[in-house]
Amino acid sequence: MKHELFPDVYAGGIWEVDYDALFDRGIRGIILDVDNTIVPYFVPDPDVRSVAGIHRLQKQGFSLYIVSNGKESRVRRFNQGLGLPFICHAGKPTAKGFVQAMRDMQLPPEQIAVIGDQIFTDVWGGNRLGMYTILVKQVSRRDEWITAIKRPLEKIVMLAYRLYVKKQKQVAA
Ligand SMILES: [Mg+2]
Repeated sequence: MKHELFPDVYAGGIWEVDYDALFDRGIRGIILDVDNTIVPYFVPDPDVRSVAGIHRLQKQGFSLYIVSNGKESRVRRFNQGLGLPFICHAGKPTAKGFVQAMRDMQLPPEQIAVIGDQIFTDVWGGNRLGMYTILVKQVSRRDEWITAIKRPLEKIVMLAYRLYVKKQKQVAA
């Protein structure tokens, strides 16, 4: 059994995720984290590549939803040119924000993917609701202090995760 802290997929970045594969497995909604997933926490606006990527995903048929633990002013500013539905102060990993996004998208959890850079907020929260979780490498090495204190623990979980993935591959072979 996959541990509740393990992502379903690990990707080198949000634009390295195989979205065709996600669509093929029935995913129709994507919950996006912002800070250090799309841009560093200290960058106020999305970059050109992210804007294009987000539009491409919408064209592909995905519903997108921002679920962030960030402040309203931060998320609102970031989302200005994107116009996505969003939840700020989401309190991830609690269910609150995820459940609201799920209700608004009118999709069951099995059809929703969560993309984020943190195990103890994005991955854990999504897994507990039965969503498909994608952990991405943080875009910046700089973290807010609240995140920074969790990174050493994440490293331990990632060691266990890599062993798990290795074993799965051996079983499959
Ligand atoms: Mg984040």
